[in-house]
Amino acid sequence: MRALFFGPPGSGKGTQAARLSARRTLPHVSSGDLLRAAARSGSAIGLRAKGFMDRGELVPDALVLELLFDRLAAADCGAGFLLDGFPRTEAQAGALEGRLGRGERAALDRALRFLLADEAVLERMSGRRSCKGCGTPFHVSFRPPKVEGRCDRCGGELLRRPDDAPEVVRERLAVHRRDEAGLVEFYRRRSVLREVEASGSVEEVAGRVELLLEGA
Ligand SMILES: [Zn+2]
Repeated sequence: MRALFFGPPGSGKGTQAARLSARRTLPHVSSGDLLRAAARSGSAIGLRAKGFMDRGELVPDALVLELLFDRLAAADCGAGFLLDGFPRTEAQAGALEGRLGRGERAALDRALRFLLADEAVLERMSGRRSCKGCGTPFHVSFRPPKVEGRCDRCGGELLRRPDDAPEVVRERLAVHRRDEAGLVEFYRRRSVLREVEASGSVEEVAGRVELLLEGA
């Protein structure tokens, strides 16, 4: 199975991709992980990617695609893979299809869109905290610490990552909603689009995901 999981930040697509990857022994290919691994590797392409990331800029499509094609050409992707976070736009989806297209068949068997309302995204993202000392994650609504602002494990201060601030999340969400429209249309035309309601527990969503991927 060749599948793409896409959706707004905080929709749990990464968690679901990781879970399914373990269950079906399919590689979980996340663009974020690919970029971080390339940057750590110190390769020429990795250093170029790192330059953009260090400046807080979006890594250009051509560079991400180059890393992605390298990864998908590896032997373990021969029987399929789960893409997480890329392609994000119609143009990227077209480039991927140009490389992976299989004649009459679409490049992917499923493009699974995670549905989550903007307000729920904001609640999930902006409530995240992590301990300055030990890194333990918390959430003000879903996993609150016993003492407000303090880590249960080590008593350290709980901080919100700058990326999770509501104004930053709103901005990312606006970009996502703009890009998503083209992607949805692209995969709908190829009859591989499926939509999954992403609210509820990890287990509930996992059950829905399994149903939608049956036969793929
Ligand atoms: Zn701690």
